[in-house]
Amino acid sequence: MTTEEHVELSRFTTLGTGGPARAFARPESASEVEKLLQWARDGGLSVATVGLGSNLLVADDGVDALVLKLAGELASVASDGEVVRAGGGAANAVVLHHVRNAGLGGFEFACAIPGTIGGGVWMNGGAYGGDFAGVLERALVATADGSGWLTPSELGLSYRHSSLQHGQVVLAAELRLRLRDPAEIRREVRDLNARRKAAQPTNRRTFGSVFKNPDHELTAGRMLEACGLKGHRIGGAQISPKHANFIENADGASTGDAIALMAEARRRAFEQFGVELRHEVEFLGDLELPPVG
Ligand SMILES: Cc1cc2nc3c(=O)[nH]c(=O)nc-3n(C[C@H](O)[C@H](O)[C@H](O)COP(=O)(O)OP(=O)(O)OC[C@H]3O[C@@H](n4cnc5c(N)ncnc54)[C@H](O)[C@@H]3O)c2cc1C
Repeated sequence: MTTEEHVELSRFTTLGTGGPARAFARPESASEVEKLLQWARDGGLSVATVGLGSNLLVADDGVDALVLKLAGELASVASDGEVVRAGGGAANAVVLHHVRNAGLGGFEFACAIPGTIGGGVWMNGGAYGGDFAGVLERALVATADGSGWLTPSELGLSYRHSSLQHGQVVLAAELRLRLRDPAEIRREVRDLNARRKAAQPTNRRTFGSVFKNPDHELTAGRMLEACGLKGHRIGGAQISPKHANFIENADGASTGDAIALMAEARRRAFEQFGVELRHEVEFLGDLELPPVG
């Protein structure tokens, strides 16, 4: 399987920022992924996988790694009784469509999460009281040494977190759902989408929640709103005027603009509330936030 060089990753992030990957490939099967992982190991190159880039900030000067985007059978979905098997590269929306038609409920929460199954496992994505940990039976994870199934506890799933590391690729996941009338599923998804639309900037380029909710009576969004940050802009990036825990690409933003805005938000939250916000968005490449204390 061949790799491409210097593919611009801004094409693969919902914010639309970020530089090139040193090497890039779209494997379509588990054996192709394993060969690529071995190739990278032999060349001393690290490996990262991108899903739909909906929770990803990629460094403007690019990523010195082999970046994988799963395709083909690694993006397919099938069900057998109440168990659904989906490729790591399958979009949540595609899986939700499949399970609704199969009369399987429990995955409705994912209508709010515009990512893939692999990204959902990595992040333990969740919304409206549901999360991947609640439906995941096991995930097939590849490394350069081979592939194996891991349970949710072996994956270390907790609030927007797993213990997966770059170099581990989620090839597939098995979800255990339950029988539910498709009309009820459709109704619930419609209601959740309407709630989402009312509260968040769904028609802007963002990467979802910027910060995890802190252990505090205020959510990260309410805290940043209280700091007067709604609409605050640096370069082409701005804090959403609708929801302060979102950063929008208002006009030609760079990742550097988003990082500067995050640094400012953390500084202000620390000054006003003594809280050190932790980022939910994943970083790819040489990126870090300055300390606030
Ligand atoms: C408008 C909007 C609303 C959102 N709302 C929510 C929400 O309500 N709840 C929520 O939890 N999230 C939300 N998000 C964030 C995001 O959609 C989720 O975190 C999602 O699970 C990320 O999936 P992805 O495929 O886009 O992953 P990416 O953003 O591409 O990657 C995220 C991380 O997962 C890793 N990764 C991706 N695929 C694989 C794989 N196959 N194997 C190994 N590693 C992999 C990447 O390397 C990276 O570290 C929202 C985002 C947007 C833009």
